[in-house]
Amino acid sequence: MKADLHLHSNASDGTDTPDALMKICADAGLEGVALMDHDTLSGIGQARQTADDLGIAFIPGTELSVDHEVLDGSMIKIHMLAYGIEPDSGPLRDKLEWLRQGRDERNPKILEKLCDLGYDICTDDVLEQVEGASVGRPHIADALIAKGYFTDRNQVFDGLLNDGGAAYVERSRLTATEAIELATASGGATVIAHPLTMNIHGDPFVNVLKELITVGLVGIEAHHPTHAPALRDSLTELAKDMGIIATGGSDYHGTGKTGYSVGTGKGDLKIPEDAFERIQQAIKGR
Ligand code: AMP
Ligand code: ZN
Ligand code: FE
Ligand code: FE
Repeated sequence: MKADLHLHSNASDGTDTPDALMKICADAGLEGVALMDHDTLSGIGQARQTADDLGIAFIPGTELSVDHEVLDGSMIKIHMLAYGIEPDSGPLRDKLEWLRQGRDERNPKILEKLCDLGYDICTDDVLEQVEGASVGRPHIADALIAKGYFTDRNQVFDGLLNDGGAAYVERSRLTATEAIELATASGGATVIAHPLTMNIHGDPFVNVLKELITVGLVGIEAHHPTHAPALRDSLTELAKDMGIIATGGSDYHGTGKTGYSVGTGKGDLKIPEDAFERIQQAIKGR
C-alpha cells in the first residue's frame, strides 16, 4: 500500500488544515496515512472524515518528545510516534493535556528570553500564528518571521530556538517508557521517529532498542527524509534482525518545512509497502 505514516497538520505545527492535508495525500496517490500532530489529537476527527470520504485508510496518532536514560546514565531525547490513539478516551489522551499545559508554561519563558535578546515579540504575535491546540517553538518562529526577523523556521531554530539555543527553555516531557506504556494501554503501538536525531549509534543504540522493545516498542522509522540512503538500509536490516517493523514517513509540515512532500519527502523517500498494514496489525493486536 502506498502510504505515509508521519504527517503534521495545523492542529500542531503543520500549515495545512487536517482536511486540506488529506486532499493533498489523495492527490499524491496515497492509500494509507497517519496524522501524527505533536501532543494533540484535535485534528483526528476532521482528518478521518475527509480520509473516509476520499477512500484513504487512516490511522490516528500523535508524536511525543520523550526523555530516556541510557545505560551509562546519560539522557537522550527521542521522538516517539504513537499510532492507533483514539481522541475520545484513554490514559495517553489524558496525559496530552498535561503536556500541552507544559508547553503553555514554557512559551512565555521563551518570549521573555527573546525580548531580552532584543526581539520585539509578545504572546499575541504568537497566537496569530496558531490554529490548533498544540503551541510550540515553530509558532514562535512563525511570529518572528511575520515580524521580518527571519525568512524560514530553520533559520530561527539555528542557534536561537533549537535545543540549547539562546532562547531555548525546557518543557515537561514523558519518559520513553511512560510514553510506550501509556500508548499501549490506550490501544496504540509505538515507533521511534527519525532515530538519527537520538544521536546515539552502534551498541548503545541497539541496547536502547532492546530495552524499549521489552516495554512494547513495535518499530523504528527507518525511512525519513533526514536519513541518508545507507542509514535507511541499515535501520531496515536492524529492524528485521530485532523482529520489529521498519516504517517510514515524510514528516510533512506543509510550508513549515520547505522542500518536503507527502509520500516522497525530499523526492527520494521510499516508504515500505507493508509498513502501514503492519502498524495496523500491531494496533489490532492490542
Ligand atoms: P516544540 O514541540 O515546541 O518543542 O518544537 C519542536 C518542533 O519544532 C519539532 O518537533 C519540529 O516539528 C520543529 N522543528 C525543530 N527543528 C526545526 C527546524 N530546524 N526547522 C523547522 N522546524 C523545526
Ligand atoms: Zn513538528
Ligand atoms: Fe519529530
Ligand atoms: Fe514529526
